[in-house]
Amino acid sequence: MNSMNSQNSQNSLRSDFPILSREVYGRPLVYLDNAATTQKPLCVLDAMREEYLNANANVHRGVHYLSQRATDLHEAARERVRTFIHARKTEEVVFTRGTTESINLVASSFVEAFLQPGDEVLVSEMEHHSNIVPWQLQAQRKGIVVKHIPITDDGALLPLTDYLTPHTKLISITHVSNVLGTVNPIKDIIRIAHEHDIPVMVDGAQGAPHIAVDVQDLDCDFYAFSGHKMYGPTGIGVLYGKEEWLEKMPPYQGGGEMIDRVTWEKTTFERLPFKFEAGTPDYIATHGLATAIDYIEKIGLDKIAAHEHDLTRYCMEQMQQIEGVKIYGKDSRSVVSFNVGSIHHLDIGTLLDRLGIAVRTGHHCAQPLMNRLGVQGTVRASFALYNTREEVDAFVAGLKRVCQMF
Ligand code: PMP
Repeated sequence: MNSMNSQNSQNSLRSDFPILSREVYGRPLVYLDNAATTQKPLCVLDAMREEYLNANANVHRGVHYLSQRATDLHEAARERVRTFIHARKTEEVVFTRGTTESINLVASSFVEAFLQPGDEVLVSEMEHHSNIVPWQLQAQRKGIVVKHIPITDDGALLPLTDYLTPHTKLISITHVSNVLGTVNPIKDIIRIAHEHDIPVMVDGAQGAPHIAVDVQDLDCDFYAFSGHKMYGPTGIGVLYGKEEWLEKMPPYQGGGEMIDRVTWEKTTFERLPFKFEAGTPDYIATHGLATAIDYIEKIGLDKIAAHEHDLTRYCMEQMQQIEGVKIYGKDSRSVVSFNVGSIHHLDIGTLLDRLGIAVRTGHHCAQPLMNRLGVQGTVRASFALYNTREEVDAFVAGLKRVCQMF
């Protein structure tokens, strides 16, 4: 794989993603909806196709060759994820359908094991709904209380210690905001929380694709992310959890794969991580995710992050030429959320689409944050390793054109 330094290498890197050279409405596609999902490189698609063609069989259960081959690939993917996030043990890597399921798992299982009615879970005002609603469901079912840390007008968190109470039993916080691009100081948050004996879950959906994650260095108790936002397939995600917590947490779902022995009287459960993986896992997607991780690491997450940061800064600078632009969030490194005057965000997105430019509009699954910002929604352009300054230019030119129409 190529470095991202020269025009040539950027071009050849883009050729890893055939979809980027297609047209929409007769115009070249400019794909700036990467925070929603990224495109997939050929190596990921090829790896999955190859497994379906040559090694497909259900994992863990078979004595036959194909099943063992598929199991080997599946468990090798777990080990690949372990090294990617620097977890201590593969037992600490649970495969899920994505960040949402990872958070639901912890909300359901951690609350059942450790929380009492009246205990508090602290989130932040910038959370995605998937780090709000699972806790609210537990509030309804188990009587826990969900509180949040407010943010400043610039999109930074207010001091954590002002919002801790004797009842705070868990903090669940996003690594990077999907709307503001804020990178939260999670290492400091975790350190302070641990000084108060409070465990911390990190929503890494927008973190893992952009920032090298070392769960041991962070000392987080849980870290969740999704494959599809980091050039891997949809339908696969990860929950990292410290062994000491996972051991004590009850299973999230019941079924095949997660049991040790079943009788009518009593069922005992498999060891970690299988206790949390009921049913046939998406073993093709785990192999795809491992291949995506190889791809990212060959380029280098630091290089990817620097490139995306450069595009973000450049985009924000160029957008200043447009009258009435308001950008939300101050220190974003990979997303630009904005509105222009009183033009509806949906109109901007729809008209940009006609120019071949794909951006996201709406509340971005963060309605409490929209309320805080005093808007119904925003337009969001978000960058990935394959985007270019030329695409930013096309986006800004398109935006100018759209604004002139109003
Ligand atoms: N958290 C954040 C910050 C996100 O951006 C997203 C995806 N938009 C999620 C959680 C949910 O991820 P998924 O839909 O892949 O489960």
